[in-house]
Amino acid sequence: MNITIRGISKRFGDFTALHGLDLDIASGELLALLGPSGSGKTTLLRAIAGLEPIDDGRILFGDTDATRLSVQERRVGFVFQHYALFKHMTVLDNITFGLRMRPRAQRPAGAEIRRRGLELLDLVQLGGLEGRYPTQLSGGQRQRVALARALAIQPRVLLLDEPFGALDAKVRKDLRRWLRQLHRETGYTTIFVTHDQEEALELADRIVVMNRGHIEQIGSTDEVYDSPGTPFVFDFLGSPNVLPGEVRADGIYLLGATAPIEGPNGLQPGPVDVYARPSDFRVVGDDAAAIEGLVLETQRTGVLMRLSVKLSANQQVLEIEVPNPDPEMKVWLPGDHIRLRPAHFSLYRDRPAQQPNIVEDRSASHAAPDSRVRGQ
Ligand code: ATP
Repeated sequence: MNITIRGISKRFGDFTALHGLDLDIASGELLALLGPSGSGKTTLLRAIAGLEPIDDGRILFGDTDATRLSVQERRVGFVFQHYALFKHMTVLDNITFGLRMRPRAQRPAGAEIRRRGLELLDLVQLGGLEGRYPTQLSGGQRQRVALARALAIQPRVLLLDEPFGALDAKVRKDLRRWLRQLHRETGYTTIFVTHDQEEALELADRIVVMNRGHIEQIGSTDEVYDSPGTPFVFDFLGSPNVLPGEVRADGIYLLGATAPIEGPNGLQPGPVDVYARPSDFRVVGDDAAAIEGLVLETQRTGVLMRLSVKLSANQQVLEIEVPNPDPEMKVWLPGDHIRLRPAHFSLYRDRPAQQPNIVEDRSASHAAPDSRVRGQ
């Protein structure tokens, strides 16, 4: 089931939670709605479900205008962060609840309902636990029961609101992998809300990054990660270092450098912000395009060494990660001088609209800009 969203807005009193959003969701897609708290993810999900009436716009399920349809008519399966299982019902009764509540004419026979329930229990890898009660399950198991319950009605769309948010990190990771597998097996169009970038990157086919009721960027996980469309997206997907730079006729000069790093062609001359993640930096030798600084602190994080580096040119402190041990077997210590060059970076102009705006002919496009480049 593909979903088409056109110009939907939602207001709560004077506050606008969704500002005229457009979104196309392909049939069978696993889509993440990612953004900080209050960005409108849940409101959008609830609007798709039919739980939140919208003020403007249209929502189509396939060719059918679903804007005014009820939750039941839309046939969506919904899973919330806090598994709302019925405590007094067994696992099997929980799973088959939606089927048992159907009007008599649409309700399968009792034996068929039981068969489907057991099949779903196997699908969520809880076979044999049908007689247990929710209090006799772990958090992860309960959440899988909630998913099986959502699947029981053979939904046209599966909507998940931070489904693993309440679970500990290890269980979350396991369930992510499992959900990805389940999605492959069932092929349901699935939309899930998360504020966890790692979860979105690991699970989704595409990510919708939301900010204050707007869509900042829509793209595949690679597009969003490798070519963040706006500083906001870059910021939200990592902890960038923002370096002052300048575009001149022969390339991009980092502050204090006497030679340019390579970047895209056709850039307008003038100041730019160079965004680079900690892992984007390379330690270099005598290189006129590099930036130079003093190692302030070192911290080992497994195979990487995290360094705080104070730049000589403007005293800015960068957080970078280098392999540990260094390929040259160098052990970095506070007080060492270091020369660095970003191997990957994105460029943004400091404009109020914060559009990706460097490559002139792409600045109006909503697609990921080509401004994230490889240097050297
Ligand atoms: P979180 O990650 O914290 O769940 P979210 O991105 O899902 O956040 P929403 O729950 O969609 O955000 O909320 C978007 C905005 O709309 C927030 O500012 C919120 O306060 C507001 N909002 C949501 N529901 C209501 C409501 N029923 N009445 C008034 N304001 C609301």
